[in-house]
Amino acid sequence: MPDGRHPDGPTEKCGVVGVSLDERDAARPLYYALYALQHRGQESAGIVTHDGFQQHSHVEMGLVGDAFEAEDLETLKGATGVGHVRYPTAGSVNSSCAQPFSVSFKSGSLGLSHNGNLVNTAELREELAASGHAFTSDGDTEVIAHELARNLLEADLIRAVKRTMNRIHGSYSLTIAHDDTVLGVRDPQGNRPLCIGELDDGYILASESAAIDVLDGELVRDVRPGELVVLEGDGAGFDSYQLVERDNTAHCFFEHVYFARPDSRIDGQLVYDVRRELGRQLWVESGVESDVVLPVPDSGRAFASGYAEAAQAEGAEVSFAEGLMKNRYVGRTFIMPTQDARERAVRLKLNPIRDVVEGKTVTVIDDSIVRGTTSTQLVELLRDVGAEEVHMRIGAPPIVAPCYMGIDMASREELIAAGCETDAIREDIDADSLAYLSIDAVAEALDSTRADLCLGCVTGEYPYDIQGESTDRDVIRPDIGDAAGDTGVAGSDD
Ligand code: AMP
Repeated sequence: MPDGRHPDGPTEKCGVVGVSLDERDAARPLYYALYALQHRGQESAGIVTHDGFQQHSHVEMGLVGDAFEAEDLETLKGATGVGHVRYPTAGSVNSSCAQPFSVSFKSGSLGLSHNGNLVNTAELREELAASGHAFTSDGDTEVIAHELARNLLEADLIRAVKRTMNRIHGSYSLTIAHDDTVLGVRDPQGNRPLCIGELDDGYILASESAAIDVLDGELVRDVRPGELVVLEGDGAGFDSYQLVERDNTAHCFFEHVYFARPDSRIDGQLVYDVRRELGRQLWVESGVESDVVLPVPDSGRAFASGYAEAAQAEGAEVSFAEGLMKNRYVGRTFIMPTQDARERAVRLKLNPIRDVVEGKTVTVIDDSIVRGTTSTQLVELLRDVGAEEVHMRIGAPPIVAPCYMGIDMASREELIAAGCETDAIREDIDADSLAYLSIDAVAEALDSTRADLCLGCVTGEYPYDIQGESTDRDVIRPDIGDAAGDTGVAGSDD
């Protein structure tokens, strides 16, 4: 993994959905649910349905709104189906990886949507290929489909899924259409989210509860780590099978920090509340006096409001202002191919309001620093419009290692905090002070412990067996800030 990316191919951070209704066609609810999950993937969108006789599929590159015409939805017949939006990773825009992956075997038709990343894809692919399975893509989803199909020939549905779960290693939240039966599966450590919702006339499985909200449904609960959920064909209910048990979970903390929508509930917690609490803790750990607190829109908003509220509650004379305006028509700067393009895109995307900033000391709050492009540009922009001091506060610990579990996080060499102390980063981005949140504060805000979270990107210790990386999660890197009090604040006046 010289470039720090996943050993088995492109990382995939996606949105998945599955629906089983009484009589109504599933295509429209799936389409609306995918719209609600658009933030989880903008490269491709797809739906696979089953009408009781045959499977129908429509998968296109692009955003949900562009991928489907009204007539496409008309052709997607049937009351059951699954859908997928796929996250773009620079350099891996590839229609063969678009999902749901659909295929017909002797054991029936399968439509498969996957969010996550397997760590033993190469091994499984080799074995399957040797026994005659032919592959059309280099993604891990097709490997899961072939593995499941093979097991379905020899065992009933539940046993076949269990066998598959015992063979595939890594992170996965899956929605699967096996003929007209819809299944949801979450990996034994629950790395990626998946939840169950009740609709007027059926049930839905989705990466995030916001997709249930848009269909006026009710969140029932999260799918448990290691659980298989089978939606009943008439939309009347679902069955649950706890197929694999583990002592620990490995929930991805970054879902709460950045990836998920703030209006989603993940593993029992409203993401918005978690972000506000992280913001409050940021004030407790590294609050700095300033005239105004500015969120970096959109991801920094909830953090900044929690931070400002905690500051004001302690009597700090600081105001909260939307002093950075975002142009919502600019795509994500993160996935621009070159550093130059990324810098230009930050400038296009974020514009400071001079009147809010001029002559003031400002604290800028963002959820995370990855390469440092956004922070560097912002500090410069704010100084250009007359900020007297610029303090950066970050609602997550320093990102020091790549994510192999499904978030496109840049390679180790690109990460500004990899092997770097906070003060050196502060100097790099030219802020007056810089502080990150401690890992312990994150665990506490998530009502969890370090042992039950995937903290790979902030510790370099992974819960899954990644070739060449440590899986010892008790090892704590010294430069990260271990104890709650040690937040590694760096700055001229701290
Ligand atoms: P950077 O400019 O490279 O330091 O990236 C940090 C900015 O990108 C922050 O404003 C984050 O909200 C956002 N961000 C963090 N992680 C990701 C990710 N995996 N994909 C896209 N954007 C991200």
